[in-house]
Amino acid sequence: PADERVDVDVVVIGAGQAGLSAAYHLRSSGFTAVGERDWERAARTFVVLDEAPSPGGAWQLRWPGLTMADAHGVHELPGMPFLVPDLSEPAARTVPYYFAQYEDAFDLHVQRPVRVTSVRDDEGRLLVESRSVERPEESVVFRARGLVNASGTWTKPFWPAYPGQGSFRGRQLHTHDYRTPEELADGHVVVIGGGTSAVQLLLAIAPLTSTTWVTRRLPTWREEEFAPEVGRAAVALVEERTRAGLPPQSVVSVTGLPLTPAYRAGIEAGVLVPRPMFSRITTTGVEWDREPTEPGWATGPAAVEATTLLWCTGFRAALDHLAPLHLRGPGGGIVMDGTTVVGDPRIQLVGYGPSASTIGANRAGREAVSRLRALLP
Ligand code: FAD
Repeated sequence: PADERVDVDVVVIGAGQAGLSAAYHLRSSGFTAVGERDWERAARTFVVLDEAPSPGGAWQLRWPGLTMADAHGVHELPGMPFLVPDLSEPAARTVPYYFAQYEDAFDLHVQRPVRVTSVRDDEGRLLVESRSVERPEESVVFRARGLVNASGTWTKPFWPAYPGQGSFRGRQLHTHDYRTPEELADGHVVVIGGGTSAVQLLLAIAPLTSTTWVTRRLPTWREEEFAPEVGRAAVALVEERTRAGLPPQSVVSVTGLPLTPAYRAGIEAGVLVPRPMFSRITTTGVEWDREPTEPGWATGPAAVEATTLLWCTGFRAALDHLAPLHLRGPGGGIVMDGTTVVGDPRIQLVGYGPSASTIGANRAGREAVSRLRALLP
């Protein structure tokens, strides 16, 4: 059968924090969700498409050991309090439960599991091609006037390339696919990466297996409480990059890591003391050509045997479906003004760059809707 076509004012791609915030602001400015009663007669319409199996954005897919206490900065969505009675609960359960209630409370009619495969321009309209994940033969093309892209980063784990990587006979795992410490028990795990995930996974697995931590730069441990100025300064730095059309950097890479009691104990136990990046990967482990000279690095044997290489090397913005629009410039990123793509103001990117945090995603959702309302007559 031919693709079904649906005219709509705004398509929101993704129902994580950023997409739900945008949907909330669309709804509170009088837009009607596709699928709602009489939506075909409504003056202004929107639809939220999400490829995840259920409510929760990327949170539903994160490892079970990530508790609400670890994810201490999860901000509530606009218009509904987020009550967390038990901080030891997995974030992968608590946040999705809240998102499901939220979608119900505001009648957001999220369509899932539906994947957007491409967005292209067609004489002033955006053709958003979508496909059911469960029944790929079912596809719908939404013909939209504006787009809020809120597809996050989780579906695009980043694996850097190192010499010899293909020859390693053990297991290579990315944060994206990590589930429990037990899977890695009784081996030697080389953990690669300098962010929060690397630190948290090292502490989780260290009681069950020996570890080596490697990072490209010495970690910056932040002694003081996380002051709002620190967050604002970090966001401003990332915003400078996206304004200049450079690929965004993670906000955490700019703020440094908070020196919590658990992290301090990990440093004292020698678990959270990194070695610099290795020179190559071998069939059985990793090798260094030289010892670091700078103070702060751990030293060790020139070769380490490993059962697992755990890549905690982050994620990139999941924007492949926007490729037909050619938004990327010579800087390797997209030139942005706040949430607006400078080259095509019909397109708003939320949860991207400076707004890739739960609080940033909230604000970006509001800003994107106000920009689109100004743009769409
Ligand atoms: P997501 O939650 O990733 O939602 C994106 C949605 O889009 C997903 O449901 C996905 O299925 C869908 N999607 C993607 N591509 C398509 C497509 N082509 N078609 C249809 N749907 C699509 N931030 C904090 O503020 N505090 C924290 O404690 C914190 N902890 C974190 C811990 C980890 C391990 C990670 C990786 C991130 C953490 N962050 C934290 C960052 C934070 O999770 C995100 O920046 C924030 O939740 C914004 O979410 P989002 O809506 O942009 O993306």
